[in-house]
Parts: sequence; C-alpha cells; structure tokens
Amino acid sequence: MSDDETTTPTPEGGEVERREPVRGQGALDIPGTPAADLLPEPANAVEALVAPVAGFGVTMATLFRPVVTEQYPREKAPVEPRFHGRHQLNRHPDGLEKCIGCELCAWACPADAIYVEGASNSPEAQYSPGERYGRVYQINYLRCIFCGLCIEACPTRALTMTNEFELADRSRADLIFTKEDLLAPLREGMLAAPHPMVEGTTDGDYYRGEVTRPTPEQVEWVRRHRPDDPTLDSAAAAAERGSVRAGAAQGGEQ
Ligand code: SF4
Ligand code: SF4
Repeated sequence: MSDDETTTPTPEGGEVERREPVRGQGALDIPGTPAADLLPEPANAVEALVAPVAGFGVTMATLFRPVVTEQYPREKAPVEPRFHGRHQLNRHPDGLEKCIGCELCAWACPADAIYVEGASNSPEAQYSPGERYGRVYQINYLRCIFCGLCIEACPTRALTMTNEFELADRSRADLIFTKEDLLAPLREGMLAAPHPMVEGTTDGDYYRGEVTRPTPEQVEWVRRHRPDDPTLDSAAAAAERGSVRAGAAQGGEQ
C-alpha cells in the first residue's frame, strides 16, 4: 500500500477511509502515536517557557480562594426533608405499635434487606391494633440501598424513613438493626406496649388517626401488670386531658 492511497482494506474484504493524525485534533485515538506528538505546539517562546508549569495555575489560584470544605462531623450539613435515611417503626399516640407484621415491606424490598416475623396479639399481650403484630423485625443495612420501596408498600404507615444518615460501623453484625433499634421512641404521654386497645375502638379507628392518647383504663391495665413501667406517669397525665377520640387524624408519624 503506497502513502498516497486513501483507503485501507478490512479483514471482511471491504475498505475504510484512512484518517491522517492531526496534531491536537482527535489524534489521541490514533494507536501507536508517540505521546510527544499528541501535545499541541507552543505558539511562541513565552508559551514554551510557561507551558511546563501552566498546570499549577489552577492549584495556585485555588490556594487563595475561601475554603468551602464541609466541617463534617463537627458540623452536619442539612439534608433535604425527603432524604431517605435510617428507617423508623412508628407508634400510635397511645403507644401501640403501627406494624402489624404483614411482611409486605419485606416482599417489596429489591435487596432482600428486611426480615419480618409476625405473631398474634392476645388479651395479655396486645402490641398493635388488630390481630397481628411484628414480633421480629430486622433491616440489614449492609444490603439496603435506601430506595424507599418498603415504606411505599407498608399499609399502615408503620415504616417510614428518617433523615439520619450516619450508619457506618466497624461490625457487620451491628449493621443489622433489630425492632428495638428501629422502634420510634415513646413520646411524652405515650403508654408503652403491650396494653389493650382503647375501649370500643377497632383497628380501623386507629388507622384513621382517631385515637389521640391513652385512656385511664389502659393506664390502669399497665399499672396492674407492670407497676414499674416508666411511662405510667406521663401517660396518666395525658389520659386525664379529655376524650381520646379526636374524630380526625392528628400529627404524622409518632
Ligand atoms: S429502602 Fe429499599 S433496599 Fe432498603 S429496606 Fe427498603 S426496600 Fe429494601
Ligand atoms: S412495617 Fe408495614 S409492611 Fe412491614 S410488616 Fe410492618 S405493617 Fe407490614
């Protein structure tokens, strides 16, 4: 093949057009081209003198700009309100758990990160409104990709995601969060489960947000069965404030 030929034969018997390497114009994709040939020629003597240190210009200019480094962990940058962080298992205002152990969140999870075992409530141990509650609940944060599909699947809004993002740990076992880790803390006025549902209500009343605080009967039940329960005093004070039935949802996740 002579130098003035403008095509090159291909293994399939065809021909492709030859491209001559052009300095500084796409020559980088020419295999076998020496690296020195890929650099643009300096336009004049000054540029030739400055060229070896020109790359430091960006470094030098940056040295005199204000520092914008986030001072984490001393100062935490705020996240967006709908940021997907650590999960939380919520409670009803009287302290019963919202999780009914249905496992829908586990089935929805694409990473197989959730493990749930449901169990039946009983008159002696009522943890949530209705027949069932989540006896075992685990989320494996080594698997979770924080997609949020689990909270979309939850029929009772028991499972939501907080803004907490500090989940790093040195132990694999510590990154499997149990029900105790995930349950929302008992707020002022809540009565720790287990205890009976509010008298005369159904699980539907709970889901509609019509139960707003514990009743004196629930407080009395806990006083009989767990006289040392630390939530008794604040729940008793809340129970004396009036009717438990609001007739409308109050507040969000508890
Ligand atoms: S956020 Fe996504 S990956 Fe994590 S537990 Fe929920 S469904 Fe699974
Ligand atoms: S968190 Fe929601 S979806 Fe998951 S088991 Fe409990 S009630 Fe069912």
